[in-house]
Amino acid sequence: MSLEIYNSLARQKEPFEPVEPGRVHMYVCGPTVYNDAHLGHGKTYINFDIIFRYLRYLGFKVRYVQNITDVGHILDTGEDRILLGAAREQMHPMELVETYTRRYFRDMDRLNILRPDISPRATGHIPEMLEWIANLIKTGHAYEANGSVYFDVGSYAEYGKLSGRRLEQAQSGTRVQIAEEKRRPEDFALWKKAEPEHIMRWNSPWGEGFPGWHIECTVMSVKYLGLPFDIHGGGVENKFPHHECEIAQAEAVTGNSFVKYWVHNGMLMIRGEEMHKSLGNFITLEEAFERWDPMVIRFFVLQSHYRGPLDMSEEALDGAARGLQRLRSTLRAVRRRIQSAPPGESPAELTTLLESGREAFEASMNDDFNTPNAIAALFELSRGINAWLDQGQGITQEALEAVDSLLERLMGEVLGLLPEGLEDEMEPGLGRELIELLIQARSALREQRAFEAADAIRDQLAELGVQLQDSPEGTTWTMA
Ligand SMILES: [Zn+2]
Repeated sequence: MSLEIYNSLARQKEPFEPVEPGRVHMYVCGPTVYNDAHLGHGKTYINFDIIFRYLRYLGFKVRYVQNITDVGHILDTGEDRILLGAAREQMHPMELVETYTRRYFRDMDRLNILRPDISPRATGHIPEMLEWIANLIKTGHAYEANGSVYFDVGSYAEYGKLSGRRLEQAQSGTRVQIAEEKRRPEDFALWKKAEPEHIMRWNSPWGEGFPGWHIECTVMSVKYLGLPFDIHGGGVENKFPHHECEIAQAEAVTGNSFVKYWVHNGMLMIRGEEMHKSLGNFITLEEAFERWDPMVIRFFVLQSHYRGPLDMSEEALDGAARGLQRLRSTLRAVRRRIQSAPPGESPAELTTLLESGREAFEASMNDDFNTPNAIAALFELSRGINAWLDQGQGITQEALEAVDSLLERLMGEVLGLLPEGLEDEMEPGLGRELIELLIQARSALREQRAFEAADAIRDQLAELGVQLQDSPEGTTWTMA
């Protein structure tokens, strides 16, 4: 089976066929950098990281763009998020967004989320946005009112096709005095006149102002990915109005289709409730990392399908920690034996086991990136590997390397659960290579009949919890 993706626009799973064979152009709405990233961001960007990683695993050349919103994101109350943050922290707005951009990447790195290929910032694309807005006015899809520019949703017949909302159902959510200068309440701002308190302001044909939130995503995605591009992702809460507006801006002015596959991920819940500062259940990633290993959080997120909501609780995370530990211990058992195993071909039963494990994993991932089923396939594979290790036949270096390389690809490359430095964590304070080196030194001493020194190495390793077993094929070791 080849890859199928659930396309929110078509409301069904569709075979994935990129615009240009072999290449994938993908855009995901990035963070508004006025505050620390929270667990909900963790879920969203892990979900899209998996899509990015799996497309690369399938051999596509992927260009992944994720914007940084550093201007123009207005709350429903009409307040500007960046200005609120700057006032809170007593910082210049650019200082604020720089601080939180760095903290965002730091948190994403800890979750082993690969960095996007391009992270364009809205403030760096003002000329492109001005040009796009001017084109919308020229083609009759936007109008200027009192120094601001609004998109005329009545001019675009397909407005609402993604969310299924018709115009009369749409909520404007904007302040009354601004609504008055609009032709209809659903019209949305492309450019806003700067109020005196606005530090972030640029000259425009309509006076000093700043761009609206929706226009940045249309302009920056098309600039780097072309039109149409393959995948546009984001949280399901952004389907309306944000993504609906992105489509309108792009398609009204170009007459072309904007995006081939719209992909939306479900929200993170805390014990059945949405996460809100007002509910006291708001957890930043930084706080979460103090309580849980970032890889446990990642594994927990992957145990549910990206499109569904995910309910988080301490018990569920503890369960995830145990599950991840089981998978890692299989890998650890394999790696521990590689160096000391005898050379020789991989047995046919093992090849069959690995092949069927890989196929089950890929079949799950091909089914709209079904990570819970892919993880179930990994557990099944891991049970098979453990049984093979226990029966003790045909455990050659080549066989162990084949197991190691498959687990590294599926658990590491695709699921991102084996970050660099994990090896140290797996053998705390004691590198695998160092143990192998000591075993070699001990063998050399024994060959020279220096048994006293050789036994001292064995005994001291035993004190550190490393048990050596001598056999005609060589020496192997296990951790106590
Ligand atoms: Zn966006």
